[in-house]
Amino acid sequence: MRRLRNVKIVATLGPASETYETIRALHEAGADVFRLNMSHGSHEEIAEKHKIIRQIEEDLSSPIAILADLQGPKLRVGVFANEEGEDLVSGAKFRLDLDKKEGDLDRVCLPHPEIFAALEPGAHLLVNDGKISLRVEECGKDFANCVVVNGGRISNRKGVNVPDVVLPLAALSEKDKKDLEFVAQLGVDWIALSFVQRPADMLEAREMIRGRAAVLAKIEKPTAVENFDDILDVSDGIMVARGDLGVELPVQNVPPIQKRLIRRCRREAKPVIVATQMLESMIESPMPTRAEVSDVATAIYEGSDAIMLSAESAAGDFPIEAVTTMNNVAIEVESDQTYRDIIEASRSTKGESVADSIVAAAREIAETTDVKAICCFSQSGTTALKVARERPRVSIVAMTSRLGTARRLALTWGTTCVVTPEFDRFKLSVLAAVGAAKRLELATEEDQVVVTAGVPFNIPGTTNIIRVAPCDERLISATDPE
Ligand code: PGA
Ligand code: MN
Repeated sequence: MRRLRNVKIVATLGPASETYETIRALHEAGADVFRLNMSHGSHEEIAEKHKIIRQIEEDLSSPIAILADLQGPKLRVGVFANEEGEDLVSGAKFRLDLDKKEGDLDRVCLPHPEIFAALEPGAHLLVNDGKISLRVEECGKDFANCVVVNGGRISNRKGVNVPDVVLPLAALSEKDKKDLEFVAQLGVDWIALSFVQRPADMLEAREMIRGRAAVLAKIEKPTAVENFDDILDVSDGIMVARGDLGVELPVQNVPPIQKRLIRRCRREAKPVIVATQMLESMIESPMPTRAEVSDVATAIYEGSDAIMLSAESAAGDFPIEAVTTMNNVAIEVESDQTYRDIIEASRSTKGESVADSIVAAAREIAETTDVKAICCFSQSGTTALKVARERPRVSIVAMTSRLGTARRLALTWGTTCVVTPEFDRFKLSVLAAVGAAKRLELATEEDQVVVTAGVPFNIPGTTNIIRVAPCDERLISATDPE
């Protein structure tokens, strides 16, 4: 579906958004990518949502990306005798251990022996998104006696973060491996890994995915921030996972990290998503706060590829309104001259390949003449990613014969994807490009577009031709070589 903005919108699906009607309405309101959270829902439920999305894609002839988000080694406490949980008071003692017995005001199970092995006195454990903070006083191989630094309500299966300690945890749990194989077979376009700590985590997943989906690293651990460049090298995309990141690190560290990661991803031509709490208040209210609108706008001004909704679209009362809000903010921001100034000032230098030069030339033509679009033929998607890296002023139309490429590119800034037959003649591809630009209402008969392609055709990584083409097919037929 052609959008009137460049930034893409990722909407997480959940109980508030599981029917054909709602998911279709979300897509029509602006969601380009749907995120399936593997922490919730059975394989049957995931398969059902997958089927609905593919149906919508077919009904609207609009490539949609499906992103499966693996839970990763999320640490959780056990359960309490009192279903409501307990109120921990600052200054009190609280014990964590491996005993499966139900918890109370003095202790609870933390069923992760590897944490106890890595803990040291003085380390902090953060519970329930950091709302409760515990400091380890004394610990052994199966227990940690803590003091409550910040109190609060602790209840069944609340998440635990241990920011001070590098945990010897595999990025893929047994559950993750099963989920990964399931979604890869089902046919998703992106698989996201949670709590990545090192490049090896990504490589392990890549080996299991075997090219069946693109692989995205969620940056939500201090170690991932430290190892970011090496992780980016072995990832196809990145998520700035601000929820856990803001618990693992002081919350004020998140904005500078967000800015730095976006710049790094833009330079490498890899899509980056800004995630979590973007429109948090819209879980319960049809109207966002001014601060939330400003946060969404900031991610767009930075040139992020995509912005994401979590509970707002998965479990909130106003999923469609949340997508519409993001869409409206994006349209407004992107029409602001300051946006263009920032995007251009932060554009990264071009690479050294022929394709890099061609896409830079395409952008320059778009800047100095009044061509209406850049239509790029891209089999693997690499050329389209490079065009998007240029952040041109005009629309990008990615032409590909591979549906999988079109779907993956749904996450990439500014690209509208069109699935074409395989061409073996340059003239035919130019005709297809101008036809697509007109159908998408980007250009009329009197306009011109830039077309990039590679000859010979259908060999990835060969972009070597640039043509400024009239949109009047008769002119192309009369003048262009076969
Ligand atoms: P999550 O990841 O929603 O799976 O926790 C995003 C985040 O931590 O921000
Ligand atoms: Mn997270």
